[in-house]
Amino acid sequence: MSLLIQGGELITASSRSRADIYCEGETITRIAAHITPPPDCEVLPARGCLVFPGFVDPHVHVYLPTPSTTAKDTHESAGKAALLGGTTCYIEFVIPARTEEPRDALETWRAAAAGRSPADYSFHMAITRYDASVAEQLEHIVSSEGITSFKVHLAYKDYLEVSDSELYHILGLARRLGAITIAHCENAAAVELLRRQLVSAGRRAPRWHYYSRPPEVEEEGTRHFLFFAALQQAPAYIAHLSSRAALAAAMQAVGKGQRVWIETLIQFLLLDKSYAELPDFEGAKYVMSPPLREKEDRSALWSALAAGNISTVGTDHAPFDFHGQKDLGRDDFTRIPNGLPGIEERVKLLYTHGVLGGRIDLHRFVDAASTRPARIFGLFPRKGTIQVGADADLVVWNPDWQGTISAATHHMNVDYSPYEGWKITGRAEYVTVRGRLMVEKGRFVGPVDHGRFIGRNPSG
Ligand SMILES: [Zn+2]
Repeated sequence: MSLLIQGGELITASSRSRADIYCEGETITRIAAHITPPPDCEVLPARGCLVFPGFVDPHVHVYLPTPSTTAKDTHESAGKAALLGGTTCYIEFVIPARTEEPRDALETWRAAAAGRSPADYSFHMAITRYDASVAEQLEHIVSSEGITSFKVHLAYKDYLEVSDSELYHILGLARRLGAITIAHCENAAAVELLRRQLVSAGRRAPRWHYYSRPPEVEEEGTRHFLFFAALQQAPAYIAHLSSRAALAAAMQAVGKGQRVWIETLIQFLLLDKSYAELPDFEGAKYVMSPPLREKEDRSALWSALAAGNISTVGTDHAPFDFHGQKDLGRDDFTRIPNGLPGIEERVKLLYTHGVLGGRIDLHRFVDAASTRPARIFGLFPRKGTIQVGADADLVVWNPDWQGTISAATHHMNVDYSPYEGWKITGRAEYVTVRGRLMVEKGRFVGPVDHGRFIGRNPSG
C-alpha cells in the first residue's frame, strides 16, 4: 500500500519547500520535486495546501478519574477529535493514586487506550508516592515499557502532591534513568490555605478560584521545582506555565544554565481571567489550574513563544461537561472539576491567532505544536518532522478554509466549547497516521482502532 501527497508546500520547523511525499507502508520513503505515482498508489492532491508533520500534543488527559467524577472522553472520541484537528499523536498522563502501585495504574491506563484510539499515543508516568518499591517499578517502566517521562505535582495537597524529599529522589532517579521530569508548579499548602479562607468568607463563585491560586503561588512552585532540579542536575519540564511571574522564575534558571523546557497551553495564549468571571456560573467552564491569567500575561506568553523561550504549546485537555460535572461546584468553586477541552482546536487556534495573527511564523508554529514536543519526549524523528524514514504522519492543511468553533459540531465528548462561536481560518483537509488516511476533506474516515502506543527511548 503506497500513498503520494502531491504538489503541496512542505513546512517543517526549519524548512519550506514544494515537493511530493511518497509513503510506503507506515513510512515516508521518498521526498522529491515530482514523483510519478505507481499504478496502485493512493494520491492526495495538496496543490494550494501546506503540508505539516502530524502535530503532537504533549499534555492530554483522556482517562481521568477525579475524587468526584471522571472526564468524559474515551480514546475513541478524543483520538477522533485530535485527528480532525491535525494532532496525530498525543501523550497522556498515567496518574496512580498515592496508595496504588505505578505498574497497576499503568495497566489501567493502558487498558483504557489499547485498541481504542484512532490516533497514536504515549504516556507520561505521574509519581504520587516515592519509596524503594516505586523506584524499582519506575526503573522497569523507563527501561522496558518505553515511558521516559515522569510527572510530579507540587499542587493538590494530600492527594497528588509529593513531599520535598520525594521530589528530590524522583529527580535523582530520573537523571540516572535518562527520563525527564514534568512538574505542575503551584505551592499546595498556599492553595489549600487560600481556598479555605475564601470559602469560609463566602467567596464561592467560580471567579474566586483565581484568588486561591494567584501568580505568586505558581512562581513559588516553579522556583521550588527548579531548585530541586538544580540540586540533582536533572532536566526539567514546566507543565502549563501561565504567568509572567512563573516565566521570569523559569528564565532565571535557564540563564544559570539549567536544562529547563517550558510548556504553555493554547488557552493561556487566548483566554484570560475575565472568562472565569462570566456571570450565572458560566465562568465554571473556564476553571482550571493554574487559572487563566491577565491580558498582560497572555502577551508575555506570546512573546516568549515567538522567541522560543517557551518550547511547546499543549492543551491539558480535560473534558468535563458543564451540565452534570462542572456544576458539582455550583455552590463552591473548590468542587468544580478542573480543566478545559481543547485537543481538537489547539492547532487551528494556534494557526489562526498565532500565524495569521502575526505573532509567530509558520516554522515556530510547527516547532511548538509538533517538532519540539516530539524532540523533548523522545518521539523524534519518528514523529515531529517530514523526512525519509519518519512515520507517515502528515497533515495537508487548507490555509483558506473558514469556519466557526461550536460544541454543536465538535467531536470531543463534552457539552460545551470554551471557544464557542470563534472564527477559524485553516483546517486539516487530509490527515494520515503511519500511512493510513484518517481524515479526508475534514471528515473522519479511518478505523477507530488504528492508533498505537509509541514507546520512547531514554534521552541519556
Ligand atoms: Zn494536566
